[in-house]
Amino acid sequence: MLLTISTTHEPATVLGYLLHKHPDRCQSFDLSFGQAHVFYPEVSDQRVSAALLLDVDPVGMVRGKGREQSFLLGHYVNDRPYVASSFLSVAIAQVFGSAMSGRCKDREELVKTPIPLTARIEVLPVRGGEALIQRMFEPLGYAVEATRHPLDEQFPEWGDSSYFTVTIAGTKLLSELLTHLYVLIPVFDNQKHYFVGDDELEKLLEKGAGWLATHPEKEQITRRYLRHRSNLYREALARLVEDKEIDDTEEEPAALGPEESLEQAVSLNEQRLGTVLAALRGCGARSVLDLGCGEGKLLRNLLADRQFERIVGLDVSIRSLEIAQRRLNLDRLPERQAERIKLIHGSLMYRDQRLANFDAAAVVEVIEHLDPPRLSAFERVVFEFARPKTVVLTTPNSEYNVKWETLPAGQFRHADHRFEWTRQEFQDWASQIADHHGYRVLFVPVGPVDELVGSPTQMGVFERD
Ligand code: SAH
Repeated sequence: MLLTISTTHEPATVLGYLLHKHPDRCQSFDLSFGQAHVFYPEVSDQRVSAALLLDVDPVGMVRGKGREQSFLLGHYVNDRPYVASSFLSVAIAQVFGSAMSGRCKDREELVKTPIPLTARIEVLPVRGGEALIQRMFEPLGYAVEATRHPLDEQFPEWGDSSYFTVTIAGTKLLSELLTHLYVLIPVFDNQKHYFVGDDELEKLLEKGAGWLATHPEKEQITRRYLRHRSNLYREALARLVEDKEIDDTEEEPAALGPEESLEQAVSLNEQRLGTVLAALRGCGARSVLDLGCGEGKLLRNLLADRQFERIVGLDVSIRSLEIAQRRLNLDRLPERQAERIKLIHGSLMYRDQRLANFDAAAVVEVIEHLDPPRLSAFERVVFEFARPKTVVLTTPNSEYNVKWETLPAGQFRHADHRFEWTRQEFQDWASQIADHHGYRVLFVPVGPVDELVGSPTQMGVFERD
């Protein structure tokens, strides 16, 4: 992947100062996904070109990332090493960071002077064709040239590809040009190589300052930049128009499912959290996993207690993780708090190195969401591989369901439950696990205990030496 930036300003050698990269040297930078090299293919008083060559290592990137990503071939065979994508944006920010933010210690006046600049992106994947390239760059004052590449030159009958070589030219500040490229390159590509969290919104607003609010394509840029996350998109548009902080304490109006409305009456949810928390405190854990953390209710309580120094929440659902991230305000926590907690995406069906070396794990109302034939995989992941000293696990007690008048007989408490167990069924399962993996297990009722049918939730606390 190659990006070339040229100027015909006189003297053209100012480009070296502005980019903070010496024209006589080839410099290389290690990035998390490969290497970036900067060199000058053309240096004269009339014209200087600087090249940013990106060497993306798609295999290195996924090595050691756990096994939840199922389409392995896609890691080896993809266009990422060859095209301009969010990788290029990250490289621009890291390698030309000072230039992008308009800093130049010794030559202050230079960064404030528009100069004739040309940027050439060798291969830009464009979902939306040539017209989109024009609609994005022309309102910003660039002359645009785009050449579409055929799928294969040897087989013209296969038609065109969605890849273009694009040149944009205009008299601009270098910081403006780099910022426009930084924001717009992933917009054409419409993919991002990382999990789009709330900080992406802040990044977009910061980098879009002064031009995005008046850009005729601002909706499309914002939607694509934020990868169609509609809540972030709406917030971004609101802030672009009003240019003021909006109150983000507002939560999504969550319709109460039968599970929540049933449980609200007895506030079982809170009793369960309180009991799990007490068990985690009681075992003296300092590092805790919340496996199947959902939208982060337990995480919030863990974070509020300084006993817990290292907290990791894992879930298979990206949407739940995004909600947890927002509700816990993870992007705005003071640094020392933020260091204590991490959200990770993963599945309890696969052995995962990131789960090793924790004092305790909570698995709250999760197992009943797993298909019974896959419980043995879960058992090995938690009790054989992660192997924390304490595991606190809860699940509904199906015997108690008769106590809920609104729950038709024979139905589960939640549409996604694959099973609900009686006390005997749960205790048989848990005891066999404890025996097999060298744990002791203690059973604790959670919620009001009925003489006949027991408590609504059942909890097992597993411990090993
Ligand atoms: N522990 C939370 C959420 C319980 S709901 C609470 O008490 O509020 C069950 C959660 O398990 C959901 O968030 C779901 O996404 C998650 N889950 C289901 N299957 C999973 C799997 N294989 N790996 C990890 N999480 C899973």
